[in-house]
Amino acid sequence: MKIVYLDRDGVINKFPGYGDYVKSWEEFEFLPRVPEALKKLKEAGFTVVVISNQSGVGRGIYSQGALDEITGRMKSALAKEGAVIDDVRYCIHASDEQCACRKPNTGLFAELRSLGKDVLDRLYFIGDARSDIETAKNAGIKSILVLSGRSTILDAEGWETKPDWIAYDLLDAVQTVILKDRTL
Ligand SMILES: [Mg+2]
Ligand SMILES: [Zn+2]
Repeated sequence: MKIVYLDRDGVINKFPGYGDYVKSWEEFEFLPRVPEALKKLKEAGFTVVVISNQSGVGRGIYSQGALDEITGRMKSALAKEGAVIDDVRYCIHASDEQCACRKPNTGLFAELRSLGKDVLDRLYFIGDARSDIETAKNAGIKSILVLSGRSTILDAEGWETKPDWIAYDLLDAVQTVILKDRTL
């Protein structure tokens, strides 16, 4: 089983800022080296799944339609560069809705539930936030913190749940994933 899970904001596109959201395609800005990173994952045989909290929909700040447009345009812009995202899964609920899918909950990682530790140990979640690192821990998989978004190394030093690895950006993280996969 070769799946890599990615957060979206701060990993694929520029972090919109604390308390803000990417509300339209106009506000979506790709980070450097992302197509290259996704291409490498595909070449190495990984399925790429994006898992992102977008509570701005649940809070009525932008619509499901706007989110769908962002997803479609993100995927087609990447496809033009030969980069593929296999699946995009969102939690659109507000934090007070107590859903099972809002990270650090693992409701969007359904396929992992039946897997043993030996398999889970080889899977990764790449994210830029403390909640991503906690999500990976809750799902039983490895975590890589990228420094291309909301968190610094100093932030991570203060977290109770530490990332398994820290990477400069998505391409750097992907190179770690591929290297670890080859050496297992
Ligand atoms: Mg993020
Ligand atoms: Zn949810």
